[in-house]
Amino acid sequence: MGKVPATEAFGLAAKDESGVLSPFRFSRRETGEKDVRLKVLFCGICHTDVCMARNEWGFTTYPLVPGHEIVGVVTEVGAKVIKFKAGDKVGVGYMLSSCRSCDICTDDQENHCPKMIMTSGGKYYDDTMTYGGYSDHLVCEEDYIIRIPENLPLDAAAPLLCAGVTVYSPLKSHGLDKPGIHIGVVGLGGLGHVAVKFAKAMGTKVTVISSSDGKRDEAINRLGADLFLVSRDPEEMKDAMGTMDGIIDTVSATHPLLPLLGLLKYKGKFIMVGAPDKPLDLPALPLILGKKMVVGSMTGGIKESQEMVDFAGKHNITADIELISADYVNMAMERLEKGDVRYRFVIDVANTMKPTP
Ligand code: NAP
Ligand code: ZN
Repeated sequence: MGKVPATEAFGLAAKDESGVLSPFRFSRRETGEKDVRLKVLFCGICHTDVCMARNEWGFTTYPLVPGHEIVGVVTEVGAKVIKFKAGDKVGVGYMLSSCRSCDICTDDQENHCPKMIMTSGGKYYDDTMTYGGYSDHLVCEEDYIIRIPENLPLDAAAPLLCAGVTVYSPLKSHGLDKPGIHIGVVGLGGLGHVAVKFAKAMGTKVTVISSSDGKRDEAINRLGADLFLVSRDPEEMKDAMGTMDGIIDTVSATHPLLPLLGLLKYKGKFIMVGAPDKPLDLPALPLILGKKMVVGSMTGGIKESQEMVDFAGKHNITADIELISADYVNMAMERLEKGDVRYRFVIDVANTMKPTP
């Protein structure tokens, strides 16, 4: 199929630091030779979308169309596209492109390429802003598109594109994906609940560390965690000291690290994926005693994103979602900020996002 003209698009955009989203019309580029055009079906609401909409990290450019947990159906492909055809069910995550030639890209870690282009709030090669998945359709280079396994429901699969790979990638790359390993998951939100599912499917023992007792029953009986700790309960935390090989911290707000570091074994790894907007206190002694490591991790590369959804397909892993209509997005963001969601909002884009007259 050849090039088609740039098309009008519509979506929801934050226009200022209030972060309030309202209808927005814009245009998408024409389908280039190596591009795939997709109709957006569903888009997850990541906590990052809230932080970006409100400029909490200080680098948001407005208008911002959020959304990087996108699932859709291919409607057009460029003349040189070989991997996808119209009708395919596909996903797009945190990035749309990268340089493809640096050491990081050749190591399949395009997400860390200095020239990586974010799906939302980035700048494309033609200097236009990138607008994310809270919109009717998207154009993306085929090399940055993920194929969704046939057996996964598309709405509940959408959060895998960010939440899924963000927790899958560090479990794999730090060797924390084997039976016999004990994983702690701090914060049972969008990222945390899929971390429990992936870690259990990898055969590890999983302990959820939550800020209150409210999610204990769901963590153990629905999500399959082995143990549950309330981080603010010193007695419970004391019993688990020195038992964990790795901890994935998904907490979105500042919180004390000292009690968490104490949970690690000798040479245990503390992996930070949550991104609070203020610095965390990192005490030195609990790291020095026991040769512990603190590392960060951001989303994942394209190869491991495909591997992650294929693994999810094999083990029937999806997110627990609350499917919402487009006109509920502002309310959903407020509820997400308050921790009032079990466990991911997903927007029913195709059925509910309509252009304003
Ligand atoms: P989320 O659904 O809001 O989950 C965050 C969880 O953190 C909450 O459910 C809550 O769990 C816990 N929490 C919140 N406030 C807390 C506080 N004051 N003290 C202790 N615990 C608290 O958010 P998400 O979408 O999973 O995202 C989590 C974080 O990861 C955000 O900062 C987001 O920006 C970041 N993120 C990073 C990447 C990456 O590539 N590194 C990718 C996506 C998102 P409990 O109720 O169990 O305590
Ligand atoms: Zn995200």
